[in-house]
Amino acid sequence: MRTKFVEIDQQKEYMAQAGRILQEGGLVAFPTETVYGLGGDAFNPGSCRKIYEAKGRPSDNPLIVHICRIEDLKMVAAEVPREAMLLAEKFWPGPLTMILPKADRVPYEVTGGLDTVAVRMPNHPIALALIDAAGGYVVAPSANSSGKPSPTLAGHVLEDLDGRIDMILDGGPVGIGLESTIVDLTTDVPEILRPGYITREMLEEVLGQVKTDVTIMSADTGQAPKAPGMKYRHYAPVGELTIVAGEPERVVHWINEKLSQSAGKKTGVICTDENRDKYLADVVKNIGKRDDEARIARELYRILREFDEEKVEIMYSEAFDTAGVGQAIMNRLLKAAGYHIIYV
Ligand code: AMP
Ligand code: MG
Repeated sequence: MRTKFVEIDQQKEYMAQAGRILQEGGLVAFPTETVYGLGGDAFNPGSCRKIYEAKGRPSDNPLIVHICRIEDLKMVAAEVPREAMLLAEKFWPGPLTMILPKADRVPYEVTGGLDTVAVRMPNHPIALALIDAAGGYVVAPSANSSGKPSPTLAGHVLEDLDGRIDMILDGGPVGIGLESTIVDLTTDVPEILRPGYITREMLEEVLGQVKTDVTIMSADTGQAPKAPGMKYRHYAPVGELTIVAGEPERVVHWINEKLSQSAGKKTGVICTDENRDKYLADVVKNIGKRDDEARIARELYRILREFDEEKVEIMYSEAFDTAGVGQAIMNRLLKAAGYHIIYV
């Protein structure tokens, strides 16, 4: 298959064709405000199977249904509780995915066999136009090969899926850079299954009490994560990544000590701007100022991919603050490191 790459300035010209590809069971990658998604028709089980195949994704890892109008929620969910409407009005279009009981018409290929469905309305003009052109209901996991960091540039999608999908719509770099927050509304107390840009505090302002799945920040809770996809190794670079937490001077000292013992291996460090000149690694990636969480979120996956391209074998990353969006950043970084974190 030849993958058509549609440049930024050609989006309008190609939108009808992209919509037709989806309606006919093909796959189109598109930008959203979080990461690039790989879209298929949500009501076509064949499209879902193609998505799993193109990504090499385990078929028990359910897909998110993307809509372009709040009122379309009732076509996808068997029940729409009041909480869902309140959240939709406050955060949609936006980086929030809700888990609701699934409507019968949603195929089990979408939900990985579950009776619940994940739904989101993304905040990106190209995404919304594409969903509309496709008939209103597009399933879309992140448009990476399974296990790799999610794509934050159209070029990342091309790297992973060229020749495996019909079209890629280039919308430039994404704005947020981490996948949506997932909140489960089918339990007594709403529960965050994946942290993201919409934080627990923001959800609590609308819903009152909100829980967080305990598996989000630790590998040894003895429990399985409630979002099936969260149990898989993910975002991981090819080399070995260790996170180092502690007082900044000690972190720098500890990492440099380790770097000096890594002769013969290509080494890398992810550091904050404040420490950018202090490391002795072969490749030093400055992820931005310590308190600029938005930038850290936006840069993380690109940096992890660059380490692979540059064939870095041993990597260290400073740890980041876990307040606000920091929790989502640390959740992804911990997974990328296989939960390998050292406190110095
Ligand atoms: P992705 O679109 O690649 O970010 O992956 C979708 C995420 O949503 C995965 O982590 C899934 O496990 C999660 N998800 C989708 N549907 C459900 C569901 N019905 N219940 C719980 N988690 C879900
Ligand atoms: Mg994904």
